[in-house]
Amino acid sequence: MTHTQRIKRYVQFFGSFAKTLEVLAVWENIKPCARILVYEDDAPKTISYLRSFPLQVVTADFKIDLWQSSTASGYSSKGGIIPVSGGEGRKGYLVLYVSKDLERALAAKAAEQAQDHASLGAALGYPGCCSRFFSHYAQEEQKRHNTFIRPLLEHSARTGALGHANHHGAHQFPPAYPFQNNIFLRAQDICLLSHIPCSLDCPKSLEEGNKMMRLLQRYSASIAQEFGAALKKGVLVTEEGISILLEGTAITGATVSIKAAASPDPFARVLVEQLTRAKAFEALPQGGILVEEMIYSNYTFVQFS
Ligand SMILES: [Zn+2]
Repeated sequence: MTHTQRIKRYVQFFGSFAKTLEVLAVWENIKPCARILVYEDDAPKTISYLRSFPLQVVTADFKIDLWQSSTASGYSSKGGIIPVSGGEGRKGYLVLYVSKDLERALAAKAAEQAQDHASLGAALGYPGCCSRFFSHYAQEEQKRHNTFIRPLLEHSARTGALGHANHHGAHQFPPAYPFQNNIFLRAQDICLLSHIPCSLDCPKSLEEGNKMMRLLQRYSASIAQEFGAALKKGVLVTEEGISILLEGTAITGATVSIKAAASPDPFARVLVEQLTRAKAFEALPQGGILVEEMIYSNYTFVQFS
């Protein structure tokens, strides 16, 4: 069996590319521990499969009811927490900590149980800057959408995520961010990072993304290439976690022209239709975008390359 066939088989088993990458990263000693969500009916077979690698698997004492999640495309797993043995028979997702080192998996479990974000981040091998960022905004985000997109954009471009006027008064977009840090395709199961970067140009996250990219290249050059191409995109994002993916972006002043727009999110349907017709939008100085004379104040444009 070739590596590409093997990776495809894993994806089929785990039902997700992101989970496959996480498990491979642990197996190949790139990550010390992975935290993966598994639908509880699938958990016994997933756990025994992981143990056959062999990997250590520890299960959290709670499960996550993703139906309570406020956003389908947000990935921070905002969901109701129910005890594993409770929930009046309500089904949920189990949290598995997967590692070669049992102590490490137990430490991750204990840290999450205690809601100690810094220790959980350390156990999972997340960059310190990103763990601190997560810790700092965790409470605030719980009251909002729990996507961390607002602080992420604020940290990414302190001059304003949508750019600013230069000294000639012309609109200036921030430079494109590295595709390794593009977390906005997670709903399409395309993402190299398992944590939220503290900034879209976080160098530590870029390093993590490169490690995952090299791992993918080792397993399948063709899949790695597809991944890279998919992540090098323009995106329109909201802090609720809605992403619209833009093909063929070209920037002239404050105007972004596009070849195509798409989104997995039904809430974005009207705007996607407008963008598809207009093939362009304008960034507004106060934030937000203008499309066909309609203002969408909650969308921010970010380019990855
Ligand atoms: Zn960081």
